[in-house]
Amino acid sequence: MIAYIERFVHENDVDTMPEPDSGEEQGDLSPLFNGVDIQGTVEFAGCGSAAAGIDFGGVQVSKPLALIRPANSDDVAKVVRLASRSPHLTVAARGNGHSVNGQAMAHRGLVLDMKTIEPKITVDPETAQADVSGGALWEDVLKRCVLGYGLAPRSWTDYLGLTVGGTLSNAGVSGQTFIYGPQTENVTELEVVTGNGDVLVCSKNENPELFFSVLGGLGQFGIITRARVLLQPAPDMVRWIRVVYSEFSEFTRDAEMLVTRAEGDSFDYLEGFVFVNSDDPVNGWASVPLDSDQFFDPSCIPPTAGPVLYCLEVALHYKNHDPPSAVDMRTERLMGGVRFVEGLRFSVEVGYMEFLLRVKRAEKEAKANGIWDAPHPWLNLFVSKTDIADFDRLVFKNILKHGVGGPILLYPLLPSKWDSRKSVVLPEGGGMFYLVALLRFCFPYPKGLSVEEMIVQNQEIVQTCIQNGFDFKLYLPHYTSREGWKRHFGNQWSRFQERKARFDPMAILAPGQKIFPRNW
Ligand code: FAD
Repeated sequence: MIAYIERFVHENDVDTMPEPDSGEEQGDLSPLFNGVDIQGTVEFAGCGSAAAGIDFGGVQVSKPLALIRPANSDDVAKVVRLASRSPHLTVAARGNGHSVNGQAMAHRGLVLDMKTIEPKITVDPETAQADVSGGALWEDVLKRCVLGYGLAPRSWTDYLGLTVGGTLSNAGVSGQTFIYGPQTENVTELEVVTGNGDVLVCSKNENPELFFSVLGGLGQFGIITRARVLLQPAPDMVRWIRVVYSEFSEFTRDAEMLVTRAEGDSFDYLEGFVFVNSDDPVNGWASVPLDSDQFFDPSCIPPTAGPVLYCLEVALHYKNHDPPSAVDMRTERLMGGVRFVEGLRFSVEVGYMEFLLRVKRAEKEAKANGIWDAPHPWLNLFVSKTDIADFDRLVFKNILKHGVGGPILLYPLLPSKWDSRKSVVLPEGGGMFYLVALLRFCFPYPKGLSVEEMIVQNQEIVQTCIQNGFDFKLYLPHYTSREGWKRHFGNQWSRFQERKARFDPMAILAPGQKIFPRNW
């Protein structure tokens, strides 16, 4: 059987690869799985597994040999062991395929659709924890925990159509990260299938090296089949507020002041974004109001304002039984030292689930007008606070002064909330840093920029960071050379390599990250 697999792995040379959805006949690949007794299903590339060969980014395409829909972690282990018997076969766990650079792809390899593993979400209200399968969508975790138990995870991403295993392999950041750390800091136990084909439970006390490796590990050390997620009582309502700044230094001063307030005495969520100082309907003033009956009055903007403005976004949780006056008092106490442009404060009251599912509404609109399915060459960075003012001057006010056709997120994060034993790397200075996310939602060319133009702009931004010696890291990193990855991990590179040698020595897992070639 191995010889059979090898024939397919070798014979499908990259140059002669048909497009994944071309339907080109590949012959019968089914003997690949002879003797591998899995409960799930196997679909071969030639029979329409195109979905496994593209992702949200829409920039990369690949052609897997097969798409496997595992029923459980044993199926996952069997597939990894099958691959380990070949010197070339790789395995990619695919969450919801919301990567933008082919990270969940396996060209001429095996793709596991993690969403099909028994979608278990079991809540233990006593310990306030939920056991969820690695392929569960965060939106389903939210609904089950809140509607069934009045509990909710503490740390989120902005968009919840992502899988638990997918975000835990990166970090998972949003407006709660300054309080609770990223999602990787909010799980207490994992079940993992390693690159050796072992199914192991790990936590800080049991197999700790595997636990720390896998969290933020870019899928390199194991496939997360179950995660135990910390929960807390869910609020009923959210007061959601946006305020506008014309001066970058005032925006960062207030954002930093708010994220460093004493624990338990802060907003429950803080983010921010950069927008264009113009009437551009996508990138400009109109992107700020929270409700259709709110109006952004440009006459409030000081004449000294530059080409871009800044919006600080905060939210406060409360219960239905909280007296409105108490909610008002808490809000105004927290807003007390905040100095934004007068007249540019917007506020709405929304249900907690409605708040967390806010990007779902944007998804519906984007799907309707075609920009959800257009390419998304996104760029995400962590930039040290020491360099963020220069970044503003050179990137926001210059390269991006006309916007990116979607949100430009900008908010501070605290390294003290990130356990450095986990695999994710942060700017090296060790101080506060900013998430910068260029979430491009452009109409396809020729209506919008071409993909190439957007990628060139991303490269220009990264080059600006390098040339100016900024202390930064890519978040959701993407490099194609070993040198790039070595630079990315910096002094953590040897640890990352050692972890690979221990948990996936044959480099079977997550080939789409392009870090370790098979049998490196
Ligand atoms: P995939 O894209 O399917 O996989 C990502 C990587 O993880 C791949 O290498 C894959 O092999 C590996 N992987 C997948 N499942 C597993 C598993 N079970 N075990 C081990 N490895 C696995 N990120 C944030 O932090 N905050 C945000 O607010 C945020 N918002 C987003 C909004 C949108 C609209 C999109 C498209 C992305 C957003 N992201 C955000 C990025 C997102 O977290 C990553 O793209 C994440 O990888 C996507 O999850 P996924 O489940 O689709 O994973």
